[in-house]
Amino acid sequence: MLDRRASANKSDSLLSIKFIVFSQFGFTALSALSTLFDLSARQLPSQCRICHTWPSLPICANCLGQFAVPCVRCDTCALPLPGPVIRCGVCLHTPPPLDACLAAVSYAYPWSRLIADYKFGSQPALARILADLLRTVPGVLEAVHQASLLLPIPLSRERLQWRGYNQSLLLARELSGSKTRSDVLLRIRDTPIQHTLHRAERLKSLHNAFALEPGLAALVKDKRVVLIDDVMTSGASLDTAARVLRSGGAAHITGVVVARTAAHEAIKNPAMPVNMRGLRG
Ligand SMILES: [Zn+2]
Ligand SMILES: [Zn+2]
Repeated sequence: MLDRRASANKSDSLLSIKFIVFSQFGFTALSALSTLFDLSARQLPSQCRICHTWPSLPICANCLGQFAVPCVRCDTCALPLPGPVIRCGVCLHTPPPLDACLAAVSYAYPWSRLIADYKFGSQPALARILADLLRTVPGVLEAVHQASLLLPIPLSRERLQWRGYNQSLLLARELSGSKTRSDVLLRIRDTPIQHTLHRAERLKSLHNAFALEPGLAALVKDKRVVLIDDVMTSGASLDTAARVLRSGGAAHITGVVVARTAAHEAIKNPAMPVNMRGLRG
């Protein structure tokens, strides 16, 4: 009896050792393989998402040169500026709550189509391509490096359930997974459809839409924070979120967006399903 129990214990011990060995080396091997695949996926030639040239980086150099031409933008609202000035008249007159704002491109072809695919075409993998685009913008990597936190603009529960992912959160994770927190800035109130609203109406509709998680609010105090969104239209979402962060004691707030619409331009995209058309976020 004792021999059998000792044998069973020995067998259990061997199983435990095997499990530990697999845990240590099996998972490490899987992790290494995953990293290798990830690197390969980044480095293997593919088809340009815009002109469909093959082989190419996900967006070819020609398309970047043609459609992502850098332009002078207001440093606090990212609207294009005509000349060598750093701030637009509106921001000079009424400084926004953002200390800085960076946009990769204007919201126009082909980026509008790519972003529609990303948000409404169930293609979350496009986050990597769009984050790579963001990295090319002067100031983005510095802002991410200097920040303590990257906070995505949170989605309403309805939109999150419909899409299955927060597109701003995926972008933030691509830029810095370790600094990204989705549990600090919360959307505590759903907002009505925004596309027919002007900026003042949007600001009003977003009143009290965001809040800091009470148990985590101390994380933003005296810290540099980067707010991430995919598209900046009127700026109402970023401004409202920035005011919440400011009232929580954030020391410096930079907005980072992939695409910036012209002032007061509504997003009209036929690629969006009818019931989601105009739903900001
Ligand atoms: Zn191309
Ligand atoms: Zn401005």
